[in-house]
Amino acid sequence: MPIATINPATGETVEQFAPYDSAEIERRISEAADAAATLRTTTFGQRAAWMNAAADSIEADRDHLARSLTLEMGKPIGQARSEVDKCAHAMRFYAREAEVFLAGELLDDPGSVGATTAWTIWQPLGVVLAVMPWNLPLWQVMRFAAPALMASNAGLLKHASNVPRAALYLDTLFERGGFPTGSFRALLVGSSAIPAVIADERVKAVTLTGSEPAGRSVASTAGQQIKKTVLELGGSDPFIVMPSADLDAASTVAVRARVQNNGQSCIAAKRFVVHTDVYDEFVGLFVEKMNKLVVGDPMDEATDVGPLATEAGRHDIAALVDDAVDKGAEVLAGGRALPGPGWFYPPTVLSGLTADMRIVSEEAFGPVAAVYRVADREEAVRVANQTSFGLSSAVWSGDAEEQDWFVHAIDAGAVFLNGMSASHAELPFGGVKHSGYGRELASSGIRAFCNLKAVWRA
Ligand code: NDP
Repeated sequence: MPIATINPATGETVEQFAPYDSAEIERRISEAADAAATLRTTTFGQRAAWMNAAADSIEADRDHLARSLTLEMGKPIGQARSEVDKCAHAMRFYAREAEVFLAGELLDDPGSVGATTAWTIWQPLGVVLAVMPWNLPLWQVMRFAAPALMASNAGLLKHASNVPRAALYLDTLFERGGFPTGSFRALLVGSSAIPAVIADERVKAVTLTGSEPAGRSVASTAGQQIKKTVLELGGSDPFIVMPSADLDAASTVAVRARVQNNGQSCIAAKRFVVHTDVYDEFVGLFVEKMNKLVVGDPMDEATDVGPLATEAGRHDIAALVDDAVDKGAEVLAGGRALPGPGWFYPPTVLSGLTADMRIVSEEAFGPVAAVYRVADREEAVRVANQTSFGLSSAVWSGDAEEQDWFVHAIDAGAVFLNGMSASHAELPFGGVKHSGYGRELASSGIRAFCNLKAVWRA
């Protein structure tokens, strides 16, 4: 895969980059290692000032940065601006909270372990490699980078090959805020260069957001080296609608939850599991609202759904829909790739799904919804839990007892009640099963790449 900016709205190659050679990779790892050593000597207060200055910088760049994201991967321009805002918020959040999250604990009864005093401290691991995807090219990186730098780790970024401009922007952002040179370095390399980077003894841990095959590959290389990994590998989140739900609100949010980011989000709602008593009404509203979405130029403020980020991505989503239709699924909306330049695919709704269809078990990374009719809450949970994924989930119900029952019964890293799944700096984020392991964000995100050291004094 070339390292290139290719406009998905037109298919035109805007800029291509030569991958870094081994000397440049070495130079960048070495800079990151030096920066990690320097960062250990800095205070929370210094790092917070640098992080806040970097947040000021990203906010000042908001408009042209948002246009660059939209050009590179096709998300609607308003959503690109929101992504920039979300990054600035997380940067300020970790600038403020890092010291609290990484405060050590004093053992109340040190005599129980034969000590006069015993306590814990959190220390940085050093250089951490982040292998990141193209779908939220700033946010996916920032939710690793902001806590990592506030913990005094340094970051190396292997970004997806189709978002080099985002990678190069992030390469300088933190230094512009005041962080030591090399605190965060992008590596413009293909994935074949990654095993050697993971094996480098200066690299202490790896975080990856992306597909299951990429996760398996990176985690097995890191496992050989006994290096810690955090994996965030996508999902096929259920969106459950029960009879007591507000159907108008649920159908409006369902549309947003499915098509945000042109349907290319790990925590997008992908499977709509609807109680039979309200199935016809909910699906009618949902299809009507999906059909009203404006598909087109992502730079146009009026556009709801832009192109898919890559030609391969559109091919994959079309193949998933064709497979279901060939096996008897009913198309309630969309269902066919749009003609013309660019990689557009319309908002699509499929029903009548059976176990032999790939879409039942695979992740639909595009604006394609699968709807399921269920008889009761037990069947709703069976359908919700039937995939190998377990990232997030949403339940729409007006009944508190029922909400609580679902919260405990769904196999996922999160449950959103009467709302849509989203990542928040303040809440832990991550999955179970093949959606990965470990948690980003909140206190768990900053602790993920730290050494919790126990100290015992006689
Ligand atoms: P990938 O998982 O292939 O790409 C994500 C990142 O991993 C990229 O930086 C990629 O680099 C890198 N990568 C891929 N394979 C390896 C490897 N063997 N060793 C090291 N790094 C690797 O995602 P795709 O872009 O191919 O998308 C395919 C599918 O993945 C989607 O349809 C979706 O199902 C899922 N996905 C999930 C995401 C999520 O948010 N959880 C995000 C993106 C995709 P390079 O670009 O150079 O290949």
